[in-house]
Amino acid sequence: KLFNEIQELKGNIRVYCRVRPFLPGQKEKKSIVEHFGEIDLVVANPAKQGKDALRSFKFNKIFGPASTQGDVYSDIQPFIRSVLDGFNVCIFAYGQTGSGKTYTMSGPNGATPETYGVNFRALNDLFSISEGRTSSIVYEIGVQIVEIYNEQGLAVPDASMFPVKSTSDVMDLMDIGLKNRASSATAMNERSSRSHSVVSIHVRGTDVKSGSSLYGNLHLVDLAGSERVDRSEVTGDRLKEAQHINKSLSALGDVIFALSQKSSHIPYRNSKLTQLLQSALGGQAKTLMFVQLNPDVNSFSETLSTLKFAERVS
Ligand code: ADP
Ligand code: MG
Repeated sequence: KLFNEIQELKGNIRVYCRVRPFLPGQKEKKSIVEHFGEIDLVVANPAKQGKDALRSFKFNKIFGPASTQGDVYSDIQPFIRSVLDGFNVCIFAYGQTGSGKTYTMSGPNGATPETYGVNFRALNDLFSISEGRTSSIVYEIGVQIVEIYNEQGLAVPDASMFPVKSTSDVMDLMDIGLKNRASSATAMNERSSRSHSVVSIHVRGTDVKSGSSLYGNLHLVDLAGSERVDRSEVTGDRLKEAQHINKSLSALGDVIFALSQKSSHIPYRNSKLTQLLQSALGGQAKTLMFVQLNPDVNSFSETLSTLKFAERVS
């Protein structure tokens, strides 16, 4: 039944927009979002007047500043659960640094059950459902965390795969992920915005009667910040980082665009990220992207380029 439901969800690529709220303590400014509905979003260019200032964009769904982590999860839950039926699913968070990518995927620092992000909810959901199922299928779940920095993939920590056997394993794993991403405002955090973090959940279901197996993978990707770096201002390592990020985000955009066009050639080989995820992008696989927006007028030009990226891939 789930299989049919998932197949019926139109298309294999879904693009969601999430607008984060102004942060407490931040002076409340006028939001660049003029208006948003279920699927339409209108932004206002602060440098222009009247009708000329407005641009509208369409998404599969829009989550406004008041949307909760629970609202977001309940929308994507059917995709996540389909992994237990052998589907491959990739979920990306795209946007400039500070737009809420890590909030959506991992939750804030010191997250509570209310504010846990997609990663925890997904792993916990898959684990509890697989435990609770009374069919003859026995599930094994393993998790792998990879950080891609300067087009090189590093397993975090060195072990390649963690088996998940209890809810506390789920918690421990997410702690490792969070610590790795958020060790305060220093070097690590700086760097986390310039690397892609990939949490891969591998599921194997074995039917104990027939002995046959099914496999499903869920990849949860907190992408490097999409902000453009002023080439006149950076050199050396910083320039190299910026070039690697540019290359991999545009390679990802090209792959998703080619998939959306049902093109016969999908350019997976142009970046480490798309190579790593190749088996889970395309075919029967489902791709979901959260396009994250910062409502601040000062970010308008970055926000517009984020929206243009989204427009191309959806
Ligand atoms: P990014 O990972 O894109 O750099 P973060 O996820 O770190 O951005 O978000 C930047 C700040 O905004 C953090 O303090 C985060 O907790 C906060 N934030 C982001 N999205 C939300 C949201 N939907 N609700 C409340 N706070 C949010
Ligand atoms: Mg982040």
